[in-house]
Amino acid sequence: MSEPVAVTQGRNYIGGRWVESASGRMLESLDPATGEVLGLVPDSTAEDVDRAMRAGADAWPRWRATPAPRRAEILYRAAELLVRRKEDLARLMTREMGKILPETRGDVQEAIDMTYFIAGEGRRLHGYTTPSEMPRKAAYCLRAPLGVVGVITPWNFPMAIPSWKITPALVCGNTVVFKPAPETPLVAAAYVALLEEAGVPQGVLNLVTGGDEAGAALVDHPGVALISFTGSTEVGLQVAARCAARGVRVSLEMGGKNAAIVLDDADLDLVADALTWSAFGTTGQRCTACSRIVVTPRVHDAVVDRLAGRAGRLRVGSGLDAQTEMGPLVSERQRERVERYVGIGHREGVRVAVGGERLTTAGFERGFFYAPTILDGVRPQMRVAQEEIFGPVVGVIDCTSLDEAFEIVNGVRYGLSASIFTRDISAAMRAIEEIRTGIVYVNHGTIGAEVHLPFGGTRQTGNGHREGGLQVLDVFTEWKSVYIDYSGRLQRAQIDRD
Ligand code: NAD
Repeated sequence: MSEPVAVTQGRNYIGGRWVESASGRMLESLDPATGEVLGLVPDSTAEDVDRAMRAGADAWPRWRATPAPRRAEILYRAAELLVRRKEDLARLMTREMGKILPETRGDVQEAIDMTYFIAGEGRRLHGYTTPSEMPRKAAYCLRAPLGVVGVITPWNFPMAIPSWKITPALVCGNTVVFKPAPETPLVAAAYVALLEEAGVPQGVLNLVTGGDEAGAALVDHPGVALISFTGSTEVGLQVAARCAARGVRVSLEMGGKNAAIVLDDADLDLVADALTWSAFGTTGQRCTACSRIVVTPRVHDAVVDRLAGRAGRLRVGSGLDAQTEMGPLVSERQRERVERYVGIGHREGVRVAVGGERLTTAGFERGFFYAPTILDGVRPQMRVAQEEIFGPVVGVIDCTSLDEAFEIVNGVRYGLSASIFTRDISAAMRAIEEIRTGIVYVNHGTIGAEVHLPFGGTRQTGNGHREGGLQVLDVFTEWKSVYIDYSGRLQRAQIDRD
């Protein structure tokens, strides 16, 4: 059963102070396993966002002038605090977001990994030197910070995703206004408080909780130098359009419709383990969740039977219970979305191999539970095969050749993650070549990215930027080229060649 609730009163964090919203309006944060109110946080307005932006602008000159190795020292301290607080933060996250404790521990671990990884960049942030085409002229390039950056995040990785954005933004010398998802503001506040404790100076990191209104105000703020957004493609494309109109840089991580290919020679035990995890881990609410399984006719029935058996036996319940293997969806709205798509699937003629209904898990009848669901007989152009459902629903699609499998995998508007199960090295290598996603796995599900490799997707999953890896530094810095002429005379590039 759930632990007793003491409703937390949240605040915004602006200019180094925890403050109320100017409007006094509040949002509820709910426990998705029980429907209980966990906390009340500001439902911020444009006025709050403006205050936060001003605080970020005031703090920027000093922060920018702080040497990057010193900025990084604060991040190392933050990583150490995260290690120490991992269990408490994971429990808070399970209560607020619903995913099971091993996964929320993983979410905090990802923030730890990212923070250590990026803190190391404080002593690198490499540019390069290169010869000039002129004598007695030095040429090099370096990274410069952008200014006050806006960070807008979703609820499914309430600490990992903010850490992917906030830590590189800070190490690069930017100040930040952070607008987390309205579903997970308490985790966001705990993360910001931890960074404050680690020594992030006043005004360098600011938090405004709230929903679309606060997000839109941040996007539209005239002082914002960059919007780093993770969320749905629908909202991300609007954000991009608004930024484009003002020439503001925008980095987008958006939706996915990830697929796994299973060939005749695949290890089917491995397939069952990996795809149960990929489809139903985080209750299917990962941007990299496996949403389509593309399978050859010879192994179709075996794959569906094994996966349906596994899905039917998954223990669904409160994420705090050590026995639970799959938690609730994050909200009633998300559960209704899943129901709507299963209804669409029915009308499109799919067969529900397992699940396909709400669950009223004993003791958690007010939670947002839905059964792990496998749709069989899905065809590539059906809506359930094209649109992001973002819940514990996976569709099985038949293919008759490797080329057809690639066509199906690539035949959606998204391009985040994909995988292939085969023992045939040629098929695996062809998949790596032919699949047009930002991440490809071989003999592994579609989830499981590591922080030191670039993360992001093609087509309408992203706009060409990557998070993670060293590539994230390109999001949060501007390149500056420097020429130092010590010849004592005018040397005209491209003209004076003798
Ligand atoms: P969402 O798009 O509804 O919201 C994302 C964030 O944008 C929230 O903070 C929200 O308050 C804010 N927002 C909403 N309207 C806004 C507006 N008009 N202007 C500015 N900000 C606005 O997404 P969600 O439901 O929170 O998250 C689920 C989505 O996130 C899924 O589509 C999932 O695939 C995607 N996601 C992508 C990645 C990735 O790396 N590609 C990772 C995680 C989640």
